[in-house]
Amino acid sequence: MNDTIDYSAQPLHEIYGSNCFSDAEMRTRLPKSIYKEVKLVQEGKKALTLAVAEVVASSMKDWAIEKGATHYTHWFQPLTGSTAEKHDSFISPMADGKVMMEFSGKELIKGEPDASSFPSGGLRATFEARGYTAWDTTSPAFVREDNSGVTLCIPTAFVSYNGEALDKKVPLLRSMDALNSQALRVLAALGVEAGKVTPTIGPEQEYFLVREDLFEKRSDLMLSGRTVFGAMSAKGQEMDDHYFGSIKESAASFMKELNYELWKLGISAKTQHNEVAPNQFELAPIFDSANVATDRNQLVMASMIKIAKRHGLVALLHEKPFAGVNGSGKHNNWSMSTDTGLNLLEPGDSPQDNAQFLLFLVAVIKAVDVYSSILRATAANAGNDHRLGANEAPPAIISIFLGDQLENILQSLVDCKPIESACGEVLEIGRTSLPNLPKDLTDRNRTSPFAFTGNKFEFRMVPSSLSIAGPNTALNTAVAEILSGFADRLEKAADKNAEITAIVKETYKAHKKVIFNGNGYSEEWVEEAEKRGLPNIKSTIEALAVLESPESIKLFSKNGVFSKEELESRVEIYLEAYSMQINVEAKVMVEMAEKQIYAAAARYGRALSETILKAKEAVSSFNTSAYEKTLLKLSANVNGMMEKVEELKALIAKAGGEDEVAKAASIFRKEVFVKMGEVRGYGDALEEIIPKDEWPFPSYEDLLFRL
Ligand code: ADP
Ligand code: MG
Repeated sequence: MNDTIDYSAQPLHEIYGSNCFSDAEMRTRLPKSIYKEVKLVQEGKKALTLAVAEVVASSMKDWAIEKGATHYTHWFQPLTGSTAEKHDSFISPMADGKVMMEFSGKELIKGEPDASSFPSGGLRATFEARGYTAWDTTSPAFVREDNSGVTLCIPTAFVSYNGEALDKKVPLLRSMDALNSQALRVLAALGVEAGKVTPTIGPEQEYFLVREDLFEKRSDLMLSGRTVFGAMSAKGQEMDDHYFGSIKESAASFMKELNYELWKLGISAKTQHNEVAPNQFELAPIFDSANVATDRNQLVMASMIKIAKRHGLVALLHEKPFAGVNGSGKHNNWSMSTDTGLNLLEPGDSPQDNAQFLLFLVAVIKAVDVYSSILRATAANAGNDHRLGANEAPPAIISIFLGDQLENILQSLVDCKPIESACGEVLEIGRTSLPNLPKDLTDRNRTSPFAFTGNKFEFRMVPSSLSIAGPNTALNTAVAEILSGFADRLEKAADKNAEITAIVKETYKAHKKVIFNGNGYSEEWVEEAEKRGLPNIKSTIEALAVLESPESIKLFSKNGVFSKEELESRVEIYLEAYSMQINVEAKVMVEMAEKQIYAAAARYGRALSETILKAKEAVSSFNTSAYEKTLLKLSANVNGMMEKVEELKALIAKAGGEDEVAKAASIFRKEVFVKMGEVRGYGDALEEIIPKDEWPFPSYEDLLFRL
């Protein structure tokens, strides 16, 4: 496959987006009037009519068939966190035994997948299994090529018969609407012309690559995505030599094909580099609107998994595949931009621009402070529990990094003091300019979970395997809520500049407790954060409970993003997912301990015993103390492990027997998960005792350093 990628024969600008039914493609293929209608529908200014859908469907079908497509699918994002689809072929048999290729407007707009097996958290009783998929006109359709052929994929929303959101897309779209309305109100009050405000997202995706042959020998990786045993290799990540080092050939060859596939889909994979841990990498695209970025991040993850296989590799998206080295996250870069091309978090050149910048900046600060627990909840999953608050990036405490310069500006404003450096005068919002701020502060503070990086915020708590829909739904809604309060004040104010100044000052003063520019990984910060009253929610089960709190229900229902029932359904589904994950990990641990480690220990024990007996038989004065010591250590650890395995089995049964979702999750967290740590302690000790060639599965050294 790689050999056929030749950009000199087929230049990149021709390949780029060729598998995406892009805006440009629509413009050339659709009659002008229809194209204009579609644009109005995309902008939310008009409802889609069946007549327009018919024309779009027909041209989409022609385009897809030219690409070799035989099937189409409504592509959607159920609450499992991955994507789902049901394929239908275009063929329609005719009386004469031939077929016609058909795809109607109705089929484009609406689908009815047999989706009763997707989790709905009680939203859709099983007797009312109907769920509908509805075309999302704002995210481009694409064709996907794989072994099953070429398929036209139509991004869709997934809703119940009663219109409740059964997926991740619907709430995200609703949150984008909420943000749009409130941001437009603020802009209108400031006298800034704009027709639309869209949240923009650039998700940087971290992942590991391991060799497929080694992966297949590890049932823990295969079944649960992470290693439940594994003694640290002699070398870990302490030398930092992998980070930004040259990319290994096999990984490079994988990346070449990944880029090719993504570029064809019109996904701008822009940078790729090694990450901190050995065999860990990152891919960063250019940002898109929140909705498109979310769809594309799902495609990036799916493409990584698919293409790695073609290179004899496996892409691991789990947050913590290996203990003792860094895990993976997603750096969710977030900003807001107008249809006139204005980035609302970009400090401007003129006093007026700066007033607007400071207003939106403090809106985000307030939103993150007030709704920090909700944001934290949207970054919760079983994998992330190994990262957040577990001595690794970033802590479970939400704080904001602003940088000293910006913090000084805001503080001076509050104190009515002259602004340091550039201007040296007292800042009057709307009248004086801000000193030039350095752009892109990204790498100045890598320990902050929510960092301002020059013209956007980077939410770094997001787990690597999770859809970014949830975190961004929360972020958009929280900021919309704060902006609505600002708009209420600004719309009434006679002197706008004075009101902006008052809002910026008051908001900063009230919420600066969430700002922290220091080392977020330090123990001192944990203490300091506690003094400041910032929540430190350590585990998924505690975090998820926040989503159904009165505060959360009020925020999301007021902004039309989630109803109470929709929130409750999510909590139930995510808690169940948590329990299922730990259950699989625990069961695979039992299997590996009993069937692999125990057996290897028994073999080695016998070998040692025979050695001791034979040595003494041969030479009665033979000093066998080293063998004896090893044998004793071996038996102590085997006995210890097997005892703990029995206890673990009992706990798995206990958790499995609990019917109430929240209670079961709590047993999995507080008992099963904790017991797994004890089993692992013995297992890893045995790995250090038993000779490498007798150890029943690949070691950390194999997994992390061979590629
Ligand atoms: P780094 O964080 O590695 O220094 P950049 O700051 O250039 O790299 O960009 C990181 C990510 O942020 C990229 O995916 C980029 O597209 C995205 N990004 C840049 N500007 C914005 C914006 N206005 N809104 C959302 N994401 C953005
Ligand atoms: Mg970054």
